Amino acid sequence: MKRTISISLAVLAAVCLFRASQLLNTAHAQNGRGPVIHGVNPESLPDNPNAPETNRGARVGDSLTTGGTGVVTPAITYHGGPLIGTPTIYLIWYGNWNQANGSDTPAGQQIVRDFANTIGGSPYFLLNTSYNAGGMVITGAVVFGGEATDTGSQGTRLRDSSVLAVVNNAISSGKLPYDQSGVYFVLTSSNISEQSGFCTRYCGWHTDGSATAGHVRYSFVGNANRCLSACAAQTTSPNGNAGVDGMISVIAHELEEATTDPDLNAWYDSGGSENADKCAWTFGHAQYQVGDGGRGPPLSI
Ligand SMILES: [Zn+2]
Repeated sequence: MKRTISISLAVLAAVCLFRASQLLNTAHAQNGRGPVIHGVNPESLPDNPNAPETNRGARVGDSLTTGGTGVVTPAITYHGGPLIGTPTIYLIWYGNWNQANGSDTPAGQQIVRDFANTIGGSPYFLLNTSYNAGGMVITGAVVFGGEATDTGSQGTRLRDSSVLAVVNNAISSGKLPYDQSGVYFVLTSSNISEQSGFCTRYCGWHTDGSATAGHVRYSFVGNANRCLSACAAQTTSPNGNAGVDGMISVIAHELEEATTDPDLNAWYDSGGSENADKCAWTFGHAQYQVGDGGRGPPLSI
């Protein structure tokens, strides 16, 4: 398991992320400040033959793209809102994560836990420390705070409001603590749909909202096994679970955006793109691997 997770993190969790002063532009512009999405793989879209060079993702089956280092506009700027110094990851497994499809499985859940336990302090995540602002410090550390299960309280066809309801239930029921530095991830099994556009418009998103206990930051990420061409960079995956390996990349993306723009009023550019949006679907910058009991050096491919 150590060997396979090291490959997963090196290859799939390492969506490129640039320092604040060195950002790539993509066509991921967001208009308005609702939930901020991680768009689908642009190469999966039927009418996108001329996508901007920087936004060309990998075709399923192709080798992964590598990141660049160009400085482009629009620049990402700080808008005065809060940051999360050290985020705590909470996982909420929604739906049926014990299926016989080879993806929604306990082994798949373990891949995500391994990621949650090791992303903090990695060269990849430490790039977010260049976004300190307003007297706040992003430490680069990440805590894995725990997990909960919801087998389907909101049915199999979710709305954005259902995702908040899942988070609220997990906290109100005491399955998870209320944590002002928490980022609550609702991770859906591949039989669950999200009606606002999972697999067609996005692979995940993050936002903030009001739970009974207070203000929360939360994210939706669905198992990419539901739509590998749209939400995975490759179908031959490091851990033999293309759906969950695809999720890991989206979770990493949403985590750092929730860190640098938790309330959608901190770091983003004039088009609404947050830091990880700048290079979604490109790989190759600040990758790292987890060795036996520790983190290995950054890798480049
Ligand atoms: Zn994003």
